[in-house]
Amino acid sequence: MKPSVVAIKQQEIFKFNARAKSIPGAVNMTVGEPNFHTPEHIKQAAIKAINDDQTHYTVPEGNHELLNAVAKYLHDKYGLNYDPKTQIVATTGVTEGVFSAFNAILQPGDEVLIPSPAFTIYGPDANFNGASPVYIDTSETDFKVTPEVLSEVLRTNPRIKIFLFNYPSNPTGVSYTEDELIALAEVIKKHNIFVISDEIYSELTYNFKHISFGNILPEQTILLNGLSKSHAMTGWRFGVVCGPAEVVAQINKIHELATTSITSITQFAALEAYKNGYDDPIPMRNEYQARRDRLLAGLNKLGFECPTPNGAFYLFTKIPEQYVQDDVKFANDLLDKEHLAILPGSFFGIGGEGHLRFSYAASMEDIDQCLSKLEDFLTLEKND
Ligand code: PLP
Repeated sequence: MKPSVVAIKQQEIFKFNARAKSIPGAVNMTVGEPNFHTPEHIKQAAIKAINDDQTHYTVPEGNHELLNAVAKYLHDKYGLNYDPKTQIVATTGVTEGVFSAFNAILQPGDEVLIPSPAFTIYGPDANFNGASPVYIDTSETDFKVTPEVLSEVLRTNPRIKIFLFNYPSNPTGVSYTEDELIALAEVIKKHNIFVISDEIYSELTYNFKHISFGNILPEQTILLNGLSKSHAMTGWRFGVVCGPAEVVAQINKIHELATTSITSITQFAALEAYKNGYDDPIPMRNEYQARRDRLLAGLNKLGFECPTPNGAFYLFTKIPEQYVQDDVKFANDLLDKEHLAILPGSFFGIGGEGHLRFSYAASMEDIDQCLSKLEDFLTLEKND
């Protein structure tokens, strides 16, 4: 038993969600997955694969027709150039991609640099390998890492082997411009480290085009992406790891040890998504953007000063000064009194204190109810 792994923040999220679910009729704005269904043509491809008896082991990295389709898609969408024969492995979601990549690279005593607040699996995955997370608090810099801070942290922490980068970000919805990415790459180039770039939300950007770090610094980048968010395919468990051939070969060995390969049926669904699903994300993205705008306008009216998030489906905002600043208490009271579930920012680590994360992967009706419940709660709090 590795004790540090037990202290995972994810468990606090699960516990909070379980409490929300136990309250009949509670409005839940915590969910980190699309509330759309997988597009029909992808489901049909999987059904056909079953009927064609495509139900056997495959090669560990994934069927080669699939990897060819992934390479073409990543090229067409983001201008990336990965050789499908040596530079791409299909994994059980980005979740396994992080796990296998950390396992392939890290030694006990190493460190992993993580901008915070952050998605909850990275720190425990580092601990699992005997490594330690080093967090950069981004709350004072619009939830972005600056080249100045990155340079200083890398200079003073020679044990850092991985910079875990995630944009558009869960939980903040923040992304980066090309110039900002280039400035960070200039710093990273001076160090013998890998960037693991979790770009699972790359198709969910609003009014700007996502730039992949795999394009900015290919020699040092391990790109993680997948279909969970772009194609509403969380349950299929599909991701890809792409990067320099030598490190991808090592990651593939860990992946093979852990999984043999990903599910054969999922590979046929993913093949269809990558070949014929280029436009599937568009209607979902348009809907998320409309929801973001509605939620943002409502929160601004209630006195929340939210920066406009330009990616993913999260809005991360400071609790206005006149209310209780303890985000865990705020969220628990809100759940108890108004039956509205929103996650406390501190569940996402350093820099999240005093903040709340709203997920707008929720219906417009839920967003409207959320705003009206929040308004009632704030009125009560003011009068307390
Ligand atoms: N990375 C981030 C930033 C996420 O928010 C999530 C899910 O919420 C994942 C990875 C998990 O992705 P997958 O479903 O591909 O394992």
